[in-house]
Amino acid sequence: MDNSISYEAFVANVRSVEAEIARACSQCGRSPAEVTLMAVTKTHGHWAVEYAQRYGLKCVGENRVQEAEAKRVDRPGAQGGGIRWELIGSLQSNKARHAVALFERVQSVDRAKLALALDKYAGEAGRVLPVLLQINAGRDPAKHGAEIEDAPQLLETALSCANLKVEGLMTIAPLSDDPDVAARCFDSLRTIRDDLAVRFGVALPELSMGMSGDIPQAVRAGSTMLRVGTALFGGRV
Ligand SMILES: *Cc1c(COP(=O)(O)O)cnc(C)c1O
Repeated sequence: MDNSISYEAFVANVRSVEAEIARACSQCGRSPAEVTLMAVTKTHGHWAVEYAQRYGLKCVGENRVQEAEAKRVDRPGAQGGGIRWELIGSLQSNKARHAVALFERVQSVDRAKLALALDKYAGEAGRVLPVLLQINAGRDPAKHGAEIEDAPQLLETALSCANLKVEGLMTIAPLSDDPDVAARCFDSLRTIRDDLAVRFGVALPELSMGMSGDIPQAVRAGSTMLRVGTALFGGRV
């Protein structure tokens, strides 16, 4: 089913999301330049990728390997593609090879076995794959992501992988009517990052957190990447 919106409507949506980011940044003394807006194009057709690209957004997020494979016409590192594709959905180890072939970065590394599989296929492909570790910082039983207690072991494994570059952490806040739930989850992810960075002597600069419904909380907690779908493209079918 085609639920596409006009490019003009999309531009209006991006502008209002950018205004929300700018407002949140000014309230906490951050620069909007520190926060990248990812367009989450999952379930939408190729039009959504085209719009993001035409507007000049830097990256799109997809949550399924197969869907991205059908949608992506160029390949990682291709000249002229002009937009980065990132995997934000849970990944089975047996699809790791596909993920390496399709994405510039994988944000959903939540277990050692997956890190090792991605490392192997990145090595075979002759590239170093940037990754984020997905942490269940909100302790949400419904969400994927490594448990907080398992994060150090997962990082140790990922850092030992010669073909992976660990750039930071990612989380998804628990669904809640209470805005403080997301705020606590994001504060927790930042604290986990700060602790891991000291303990392992690495930078982990990227904090991928915040979606359509919790942008201000994410910005206040130090998010460097907001993953936004609904607020840009409308509802998913
Ligand atoms: C779908 C999805 C998003 C975007 O959610 P919206 O509420 O539509 O902005 C962000 N991150 C992940 C991991 C997702 O699966």
